[in-house]
This record gives sequence, structure tokens and C-alpha cells, in this order.
Amino acid sequence: MENIIIIGSGPAGHTAAIYAARANLKPLLFEGLLAAGVAAGGQLTTTTEVENFPGYVSISGPELMGKMRQQSQHCGTRIVTETVDKVDLSGKPFKVFVGNQTYETKALIIATGATAKRMNLPGEERLWQKGISACAVCDGALPFFRNKVLAVIGGGDSAVEEATFLTKFGSKVLMLVRRDALRASKVMQERVKNNGKIRIIFNTLPIEVLGDKFITGLRIKNAVTNAESVLDVGGLFYAIGHMPSTAFLKSQLELDEAGYIKTKPGCTQTSVPGVFAAGDVQDKIYRQAVTSAGTGCMAALDAERYLSH
Ligand code: FAD
Ligand code: NDP
Repeated sequence: MENIIIIGSGPAGHTAAIYAARANLKPLLFEGLLAAGVAAGGQLTTTTEVENFPGYVSISGPELMGKMRQQSQHCGTRIVTETVDKVDLSGKPFKVFVGNQTYETKALIIATGATAKRMNLPGEERLWQKGISACAVCDGALPFFRNKVLAVIGGGDSAVEEATFLTKFGSKVLMLVRRDALRASKVMQERVKNNGKIRIIFNTLPIEVLGDKFITGLRIKNAVTNAESVLDVGGLFYAIGHMPSTAFLKSQLELDEAGYIKTKPGCTQTSVPGVFAAGDVQDKIYRQAVTSAGTGCMAALDAERYLSH
């Protein structure tokens, strides 16, 4: 029987593991084997430079995650490179199923993250991270986006935040919205409408990304007339939502309407006592490495308190 099992190997999972190991709980961490299509180490393994994780002026995503993994192990975490297929949270101890193995645990931390939705447009695979990104806060400050016309796809709160953030770097930001209205909240809509550097283009769908080694343009289609045209853009940012990795839970925890795990305000407790959630799997607003690490720490401290009671 384990004291604590951690599922997920991004900043949230490894921070939880570091704290749990230092509390002598001997954590067992499942890091995933291309779980949700992401390598062990999580979303940061898919990026180049990370410049906003305190302590590092600049570090590559894979290197940062390698260091977190090393620190987890150094503190005593046992890491298994497998994907958890399902869990049974209906009784105590909790059960965690991996292939034909079953593990039992007194407490469980879920840190399986989320993945940004992509559009799989022609040209997208070739130019991914070569001018196309799904995180303006992460990538927008990179030198090659400076003083370029940048396009953001989406009309929700994320798209407004991304577009507003990008006005610091681009010469102009075009928000391409697929229907005739924004989904974003009224206050966010005001923000974007009052920003002279942002132009909203309604009823517009991207259909192809253009460019050889780096994005140079975007073929778009009017959703009403079907008329096609080309926009010259030097950057493309998707803000069409994220998909939390919660399918394996099979609704045993309370999720919100978008599939994110619900936690009690101010802590990481889920709807099942003894099960805690950290990182992007329970956060659809901040979605940063440092906030994930922060909630990973909280989950380990919450679990430690739960186990000692
Ligand atoms: P994730 O990083 O999503 O990791 C979750 C892990 O759990 C994955 O490895 C996954 O494979 C594993 N997993 C999933 N399901 C299972 C399962 N059933 N069993 C076992 N394992 C499982 N943030 C910043 O702060 N700065 C940046 O510069 C930055 N750049 C980014 C660039 C890109 C391209 C992307 C996509 C994101 C970027 N982010 C950045 C956001 C940051 O990566 C995330 O906020 C952070 O990684 C979330 O951490 P997490 O621990 O919640 O989960
Ligand atoms: P949302 O689901 O709210 O919005 C997604 C947007 O992308 C919508 O405009 C949607 O269009 C559009 N879209 C979806 N799929 C496609 C597609 N295939 N092609 C073109 N457009 C597409 O996601 P967000 O990430 O914006 O927000 C998620 C949640 O997080 C929300 O609850 C939001 O309020 C919250 N949030 C809050 C913030 C804040 O308060 N500061 C900041 C960021 C997020 P359509 O409307 O037609 O469906």
C-alpha cells in the first residue's frame, strides 16, 4: 500500500513529489508514456526557451523539466514511466490501474495537465513553434514576433488576454472570430474594443498557414460568403480552448462543464476526500509553469495534512 501516488509529470506533479518526498511520504509518481500525446515532463517539453520561471533567466523547456525530474528523484520519489489507465475512487484505499497492475494508495494527487486545442490546418505541423503557438504569454515576447502583424484565433476571454498581451510586441493584432460575436465576458470585450492596436475580424476562419521555414501568411475564409483571401501575418496564436486530461477519471470526481477538476477554493481538495488536484488539470485561467508548481506544492501539503489526520 502506498502513502501517496502522483499522476502526471509536469511542474505540478514534480513539485508535489518533491514536497511529498521531503515529508517522508515516499511518493510513487506515474510520469506517463506519451499520455495525452505529450512526452513525460509535460507541456514544457514541447517548447524552446522558458524565460519566466524564477531562477532561470532563460532555460529550454526540456532542460527545465529534466531538472525537476532529477530533483524529484534526488528527494526520493520513485518514478514509473507508464500511463495510468483508470482509477477507482469509490472506496479506501484508492486503486490506480496501470496495464495489468493495480496499485493501492491512501492519498492521490492528480496533475495530468491539459493540452491546448489545435486546428490541424494545412501547414500547421510544418510551422508549429515556427511562428505558430498556443500560448502568447509564453512565446509572444520572442524576438521574431516584434513589430509584426500577429493573428489570434478565437473570441473568448483567453483570446482577448492573448491579443492584449501581444500588442506589446506586434505592430498590430488581428483577432479572427469564427462567428459574428465574441464569447468573451463584457468587461474583456470592452478591453479589446478600446485597444487601438487590435482589430477584430468577425465571421472568419483560418484555412491554411503559409510559409516555408517560418510563417508568412494565413489563408482565411469568410464564414458567410465563403470568399477566400490571404492575410500577411508574422505570427499565429491559437486561443480556442484547452482540453484537460481527465478522461481516465471516468467522472469519479466533480468536473466543471469543460472537464476541469473542481477544487475547493483556496486549496487543492477535490470532491473526494484524500484526492487532490494540481496544475493545469484544475486551472483554466493562469496555466503557467510557476502556478502549476505552486498548486503542486499546495497539493502535497494538503495531502500530508490529510494523511496525518
Ligand atoms: P503538464 O505540463 O500538462 O504535464 C502533465 C503531464 O501528465 C504530461 O506529461 C502528461 O503526459 C502526463 N499525464 C497525463 N495523463 C496521464 C496519465 N493518465 N498517466 C500518467 N501521466 C499522465 N508556461 C510558463 O510558465 N512559461 C512558458 O514559457 C511556457 N511555455 C509554454 C509553451 C508551450 C508550447 C505550451 C504548450 C505551454 C507553455 N507553458 C508555459 C504552459 C506550461 O507548460 C503549463 O502551464 C504547465 O506545463 C502545466 O503543468 P502541469 O504540471 O499542470 O501539467
Ligand atoms: P472559450 O471556450 O471560452 O472560448 C473559445 C473561443 O474559441 C470561442 O470564441 C470559440 O468560438 C472559439 N473557437 C473554438 N473552437 C474554434 C475553432 N475550431 N475555430 C475557430 N474558433 C474556435 O475558451 P477560453 O480559453 O477563452 O476560456 C476558457 C475559460 O476560461 C472560460 O470560462 C473563460 O471565461 C475563462 N478565462 C477567464 C479569463 C479571465 O477571466 N481573465 C482568462 C482566460 C480564460 P465560439 O464562441 O463560436 O464557440
